[in-house]
Formats: sequence, C-alpha cells, structure tokens
Amino acid sequence: MMGMNNDRTNTFLESPLWNTKFPGLTAIFTTKNGGVSKGYFSSLNTGLHVNDQRNDVIENRKNVARNSGWDLNKWIFADQVHGTRVVQVTSRHAGMGAEHYSGAVKQADGLWTFDRGLGLSLGFADCVPVYFAEPETGYAGVAHAGWKGSVGNIVGEMVRQAAFAGVCPEKIHAMIGPSIGECCYQVDNRVIEQIPHEVSGSAGIFEMTEENQYKLNLQELNKQLLILSGVKEQNIEMSGMCTSCHKDLFFSHRRDNGKTGRMSAVIGWRES
Ligand SMILES: [Zn+2]
Repeated sequence: MMGMNNDRTNTFLESPLWNTKFPGLTAIFTTKNGGVSKGYFSSLNTGLHVNDQRNDVIENRKNVARNSGWDLNKWIFADQVHGTRVVQVTSRHAGMGAEHYSGAVKQADGLWTFDRGLGLSLGFADCVPVYFAEPETGYAGVAHAGWKGSVGNIVGEMVRQAAFAGVCPEKIHAMIGPSIGECCYQVDNRVIEQIPHEVSGSAGIFEMTEENQYKLNLQELNKQLLILSGVKEQNIEMSGMCTSCHKDLFFSHRRDNGKTGRMSAVIGWRES
C-alpha cells in the first residue's frame, strides 16, 4: 500500500503504484488547492451544482485536465444522486456535463467504459471514490459511494456489469481514494443495519462507541464488498486518507457543515 501522493502541480493526487503498474492510465483525485474559486470554494472547487461561480468551476476543471494531460472536452460528468445506478459510456458521451450540469449523465453514481481517450469524472466531498481498471480489455470505471451507495453495494454493481461485458473480476484492479474516515464518521443503527450481512461481520468495518453510535469505516466496507464480488484483495489499493482530517488538502462536507466545494475523481486510459 503506497497510497496517493500530490502531483507536481499540487492540484491532484495520484497513486505511484498505479502509475508504475498502468502506464497508459490516468487515475487522479483533485485537491482543493491551485484553483480560482473564492470563499467556501477556495480554491479548486470542481462541482458545478454547489452555487459557486460557473466560470470559476470551468476554469478549475480545465486547469486540472491540462495538468494531467487531458482536454476537458474528453471528460464525462454525472448527475449524482447517492444511488447505485451504473452507466456504460462511450466516446459519443465525451464532454457531457463538462461545462453545464444539465448536460451530465442523468442519475448515475457509477460510470464505466471500454473506450480509450475518455476521462470519467465524479464529484466528492467525503463520499468514497472507487476506481476500477483492467488493462487487457481497456476497462475503466469510477463509483461514488457515500453511506447509501456503500450499503447498496454500488461497487458490486460495477463489477457485475463489467463481468457481464466480459471482464474477469479477478483481473480487475480497484483503488479506494480519500473519503471521510472512521476517525470522523459517526453513524447510528439506521445505517449499520443496512450493511449487507455477507460482510457486516468483517473486522474493521464498524465499532460501537456508545448506545446506538458507531464509527463506520466506509473504505473498509467497500473493500470487503469488492472482495465479495470477486476482486482479489491483492488487487485493491487503499489510499487510507481522511478528507475531514486533511484540512490542507480536501473539502469535507461534514467538517465544513455543508458549505464547501467538491473534489473530482477522474479515470481513463489515454489514447496513446
Ligand atoms: Zn478523520
């Protein structure tokens, strides 16, 4: 486990391990630094739907795309709803939602593709970003897993659709990016009782701290759900980072009381 490190421009994190293993792949998580947004959104807010200045957000997105070797018009964004709907996209979808929220892929919390030259992009401010890649078929995907998407097993749905399209689950590599950690995430029974029973007994997913209060480790929950769906444990990379603790790097919806920006997780195989 090597985690994710800042790139040269400080505008995104990437995994040195994945960069070595998959030379043709971009898999990044933006930071809150190096952008032009003001106030709550200082400074690299990449969310178009949070009442920031639209032109600032577009400039931030273009900046990150450029820094990571892409054109923003090759990236695809989604209208995320904390659901478990997963959508296959193709080169025909390039640029959807890049400059207008209304143009994003409707009601999707997971995107995947076999097409090269596309960056699949989802927005985050505590929820868990899960990246998927399989080099032989050129499969790439990303999922947005807050507590609802996590207990709803969106990662299992990602693997199920990939398998249906001919990707072997045991060849899929997954990476779990920065999200709110168990250090900063208390939930009650209402959440805990919805954890799929196949994994609810696994060590490290939750811990009771007092009556009807639990520390929940969403990253570990998603890791166990990936293993349950056929992804090999040794193919799962963990960032282990908490968005709330790393105030210098990340926006955090909980820490900032909802008045905050969004980071983006972006994945795609480059064309050459
Ligand atoms: Zn924390």
